[in-house]
Amino acid sequence: MENKKLLTVYIAYGSNMGEWLKIQKKVFPLIELRIGTVLQKSKTYISPAWGKTDQPDFKNGVIQAETALNSLQCLKALKKIELDLGRVTIEKWGPRIIDLDIIDFNGEIVSTEELTLPHPYAHKRQFVLEPLAEIAPNLVLPNFSKSISEILSSLADKVVLTFH
Ligand code: ADP
Ligand code: MG
Repeated sequence: MENKKLLTVYIAYGSNMGEWLKIQKKVFPLIELRIGTVLQKSKTYISPAWGKTDQPDFKNGVIQAETALNSLQCLKALKKIELDLGRVTIEKWGPRIIDLDIIDFNGEIVSTEELTLPHPYAHKRQFVLEPLAEIAPNLVLPNFSKSISEILSSLADKVVLTFH
């Protein structure tokens, strides 16, 4: 049988609810199990919630994985992980304890109701760009002319993020 070609995916994670130490022990192995081998993992960046400051800090990071799934299968697998983790740790409806977004799927461009690739807000969000620049500074997202590190350095209103 022909070996299926593995594709590269960048996944951003975010959490501002629950115990991050416990959540990360579940989410990273589930990504490895259901999406594919994790090739790189950024540090986890902590940004204080602004505006409504009584919220817990946000934890964000980016993972590079190789996968035999296609982009839609990958999105569905991530949504299932979000759901499975939520069901384990929250009783009633509230902020999600984990948000998993596809930032880039092997350079694909997709524009459907269910999936937009590359992720439509990644290039505006420091909490995505900074961890992504840590593991893939030279990555150029499809439809962009600048690399991730160039986009990050031209971003206005940056704040200092700490690490976990
Ligand atoms: P957000 O990530 O914006 O905080 P959700 O996680 O609830 O909000 O996502 C809302 C919807 O965005 C999902 O149901 C999903 O189908 C859609 N979506 C579109 N493009 C993407 C992408 N690149 N990665 C993840 N979800 C996406
Ligand atoms: Mg999401």
